[in-house]
Amino acid sequence: MRKISIKVIVLLFFSITFSTSVYAEDTLNYVRKGYILRLINNDKSLDEEVIINLIDTYFTVFPVLVRNFNENTAREVVYCIDPEYQGVAEVSGKKVRISSRWLKANPDDFDLVTHEVMHIVQAYPSGAGPWWITEGIADYVRYVYGVDNAKGGWYLPNYSDKHNYSDGYRVTARFFLWIENKIKPGSIKQLDYAMRSGVYSDGFWIKQTGMTLDDLWELYGKNPVI
Ligand SMILES: [Zn+2]
Repeated sequence: MRKISIKVIVLLFFSITFSTSVYAEDTLNYVRKGYILRLINNDKSLDEEVIINLIDTYFTVFPVLVRNFNENTAREVVYCIDPEYQGVAEVSGKKVRISSRWLKANPDDFDLVTHEVMHIVQAYPSGAGPWWITEGIADYVRYVYGVDNAKGGWYLPNYSDKHNYSDGYRVTARFFLWIENKIKPGSIKQLDYAMRSGVYSDGFWIKQTGMTLDDLWELYGKNPVI
């Protein structure tokens, strides 16, 4: 009798150990409606509300992006909050590395993960197209699908004649928004699809809008209202 109960305890111990052994001991796992988020927080001094907002943003935004852009995306993301990291945030595979230093200085910038998880959804093959399209789409998506960009002090900059579509990030995002609103709705979804399919070329813009990229930018510069 005694022997059996020890065996059960040992078995239980190993099943628990092995089921979580892929990740560090202090990984927290969250599951909502089939979507998984694993959280590795290496900065225990970070305000809990900041973390809760990052988690909620994932569960609010990621399923919508998967549904709208790429249904083949795995329903699992890892957040790693890193006090050593000198950047703001970056993605590698399904892992989003976030600077805790940045979060402490910008506690309401939870929509930074909207940009980052879009990179997971994008999953463009190498050589898919220029980097500024990748970053422009991620910021366009942050603008359109973000939970509360204004709260995080994040906005699209006004047009300037010093800008170019190839600046990437918010400058490109604003141009993409203009194309959606003023030229042809659905273009950015098509652009994302072309990038992921590896068929993007300069000809994309003529096919999609009847204009070259340079012509579009010139027209945008004449009346950049979005
Ligand atoms: Zn990015």
